[in-house]
Amino acid sequence: MERFDCLIIGGGMVGATTAVALAELGLKIALVDTHKPQPELLAEASSFIDTQDFNLRVSAISLGSEQFLQQLQIWQQVLEWRACPYRRLGVWEHGMSYAEFHCDQIKQSHLGHIVENHLLQASAWRQMQNKPNITVFAPANLQAIDCHPDKVIARIDDKEIYCELLLGADGGNSNVRRMAEIGTSGWDYQHSAMLINVITEHEQQDITWQHFIDGAPVAMLPLPGNRASLVWYDKPNTINELANLSNAQLQQKILDHFPKRLGQIEVVDKAAFPLVRRHANQYVKGRVVLLGDAAHSINPLAGQGVNLGFKDVKALQEVIATAIGSGEHYASAKVLQRYEKQRRNDNLLMMTTMDLIYRGFKQPSGPIKLLRNLGLFGAQRLGPIKDKVLAYACGL
Ligand SMILES: Cc1cc2nc3c(=O)[nH]c(=O)nc-3n(C[C@H](O)[C@H](O)[C@H](O)COP(=O)(O)OP(=O)(O)OC[C@H]3O[C@@H](n4cnc5c(N)ncnc54)[C@H](O)[C@@H]3O)c2cc1C
Repeated sequence: MERFDCLIIGGGMVGATTAVALAELGLKIALVDTHKPQPELLAEASSFIDTQDFNLRVSAISLGSEQFLQQLQIWQQVLEWRACPYRRLGVWEHGMSYAEFHCDQIKQSHLGHIVENHLLQASAWRQMQNKPNITVFAPANLQAIDCHPDKVIARIDDKEIYCELLLGADGGNSNVRRMAEIGTSGWDYQHSAMLINVITEHEQQDITWQHFIDGAPVAMLPLPGNRASLVWYDKPNTINELANLSNAQLQQKILDHFPKRLGQIEVVDKAAFPLVRRHANQYVKGRVVLLGDAAHSINPLAGQGVNLGFKDVKALQEVIATAIGSGEHYASAKVLQRYEKQRRNDNLLMMTTMDLIYRGFKQPSGPIKLLRNLGLFGAQRLGPIKDKVLAYACGL
């Protein structure tokens, strides 16, 4: 039986970053994923990316996440490939209620970058390759776990692996969570999101914006050059209808529905995703720990999902480092509870804030509509509070 300090199930953006972060502490790590990133991205040459079109799955990565990823030497490769910085963040319903947040407010050069998820993941995998204390099993699948007070034995395909700590970073439908019998609370938002990659008339933008139209927001995330990722939130039926249109038909719908500031666009690719909120009832159960979407799936409205995941990784790295430094066992209940305590309240606050905004903007008319527009109007003029809100959203 192979033995490791930590076994991580899931090598997405969060799992792969966790492997690098904990390997830095000298722990012996194994990571399992059913899939591997494209082999060309894991090879030495970086020029392969120039031949690849933009992937549909992109994320707004906050300044706070960037700084953490930079420390782990994951961020530099992402920038070498491609990413688009944004300096401004605009939100409005009606012209009068426009609120804009600017990086100058928090004395930073930018607020974050829009990054293709698979590039960030691949960069973390490249860093894993540089760490002799990380073993990767992929493609491989978690079959079962056997939890004991002081260890977990996991069956990975036909292999048995012993670990002191089992980390579930296997996404929203986490098998680790299910096998550890950790329940969740949550609901289906009755909304879907369509991601649409477009070629834009305008040069690269330095703003990411969100426009609320009758409770159903649309958003623009800039990509390098004349490219952008659009997000259209709406009822699942509407999104399904849009998904079945040809690119040319969808293009016309976008021009009719999105704000005029978009200019001419050409649709390149599209896909729809259901929106669910899910929160694990525990992040820690015995020697099992959940991180990222396995612990919490959040409404993507404010682009916080994976940023919260990176905060989980940072917190876990810090509590384990402190434990090792003070002679405590890094996988003891006392140590792991510190991680849960730090992360649960912060994640809950962000999830609840997103839901309040989402529900507030869902009301199509009446006093709530007036209030939210007054809220945005006021937000534009809030001064120091506005700066604090912005710093929090940027993970600073
Ligand atoms: C429409 C949309 C837009 C979004 N926009 C943003 C944004 O702008 N900013 C932001 O911060 N977040 C955003 N998010 C959220 C973000 O995409 C997620 O938070 C993030 O992908 C979660 O990463 P993860 O590594 O936790 O999980 P995942 O990305 O789901 O990775 C899980 C990994 O586990 C592996 N796996 C699964 N099961 C097993 C198994 N049994 N055995 C082995 N491996 C397994 C999978 O192959 C995968 O590699 C958005 C989400 C959506 C749906």
